[in-house]
Amino acid sequence: MDKLTVRDADVAGKRVFVRVDFNVPIADGKVQDDSRIRAAVPTIALLVQAGARVILASHLGRPNGKVVDSLRLRPVGQRLAELIRRNVPVTGDALGVGTEDALKRMRPGEIVMLENLRFHPEEEANDPGFAATLASYADVYVNDAFGTAHRAHASTVGIADQLPAYAGLLMERELTMLSKLLEAPERPFAAILGGAKVSDKIAVIDNLLTKVDLLVLGGGMANTFLLAKGKTIGKSLAEPDRVEDARRILATAEKNGVRVVLPVDVIVAKEVTRGTEYKTLLAEKIPASWHIVDLGKQSQELMLDALADVNTVFWNGPLGVFEIPSFAHGTNAVARMLADRADQGATVVVGGGDSVAAITRQGLASKMTHISTGGGASLEFLEGRVLPGVTVLLDREPAEQPKPAATKSTPKPAAKKAAASATKKPTTTKTPAATKTPAATKAAAKTASRK
Ligand code: ADP
Ligand code: MG
Repeated sequence: MDKLTVRDADVAGKRVFVRVDFNVPIADGKVQDDSRIRAAVPTIALLVQAGARVILASHLGRPNGKVVDSLRLRPVGQRLAELIRRNVPVTGDALGVGTEDALKRMRPGEIVMLENLRFHPEEEANDPGFAATLASYADVYVNDAFGTAHRAHASTVGIADQLPAYAGLLMERELTMLSKLLEAPERPFAAILGGAKVSDKIAVIDNLLTKVDLLVLGGGMANTFLLAKGKTIGKSLAEPDRVEDARRILATAEKNGVRVVLPVDVIVAKEVTRGTEYKTLLAEKIPASWHIVDLGKQSQELMLDALADVNTVFWNGPLGVFEIPSFAHGTNAVARMLADRADQGATVVVGGGDSVAAITRQGLASKMTHISTGGGASLEFLEGRVLPGVTVLLDREPAEQPKPAATKSTPKPAAKKAAASATKKPTTTKTPAATKTPAATKAAAKTASRK
């Protein structure tokens, strides 16, 4: 990875602002799925051990710039405290004298979590004043919030202009795993794409068509491809205005020698609900009153067969309405098969909230090579886009150039990867930030427009 990480930073005794993505599901005041919290523990543990004062900051849900009591971070702080067996007090607000006092009282190795950043509209607006206040809390900035790296917000982009900015260990792992897919996948390389809307996935398919050997399509989004092939799909979810895109994708795949596998038979249901009437039909002429809700047996066999020898897989999007157990068979079969492939040494990367939920429900998450904590962020990365929250992090100086004469003179903190860097000399807070070019910042702002 070409970004400096928290291992390169001098953090002993320093105040370190760590942007985490603790946007987790909460019900009845309890965290329902703590995987995003667990994923950030290595970075937090490293900082605590190095004697840093750790200031954690996250958003939760969509409070739209107002205080929403059900979106307070207290349950998250409690869960993290259980996981790391340390106190994790949460401030009443991300701003204010009370918070400033609490942060001033922190001792090395202590942790404080700021209240939900999105209670302030300035967070999502990337307001410079708000970013400056957050920056004033700390000496060093660490971004471990991969799931939010595709957003140019005050805590992901603005703050990084004012502090030396490093990638957290989770951020590093996400970027390393995902870049490997784009740069050096072991072949055959397959992408499996499903989920509801094809419009969300067109850009990623376009980019992956230049990389993969095999493209497996299922779920609601495959219906638009069936339309493109002249099939009828009844009442099934589809986006008729994307049929042209689907046709173009199929043509490009053929030109690039990418094999495309679409469902050949499907489960159709009277309604997309539990307990409804359903049956299997060929994916040719679905009568007007039926919805496609899952892969049929033949499709499953065809897909498992096509995937049998792959060495690299990226999967995003369930292959049916997996929330309803009768329509989860295709998704479950592919998940089991990928777990086996991973067991046999293949690289299996899964991204997307619902796909990950489907895998977790089957207890297969730990079998996969990498489960991305970022749905939208992982797709944007694989679209080939630069994530604004990544752009602003400090670059690692390229290793030993053969031509010593032409070294650029921009000062940067320790360029060499140094795992045992806790002993490294202090880095000034100004120089690294000054190395960021306005162009990079502009590019970041541009990429951020997508919601
Ligand atoms: P992810 O969160 O993994 O990126 P998406 O959000 O794109 O996945 O899509 C997940 C949703 O797609 C699920 O709610 C699932 O019910 C829905 N879905 C999958 N197949 C179908 C289908 N055939 N018809 C309607 N919805 C579907
Ligand atoms: Mg989803």
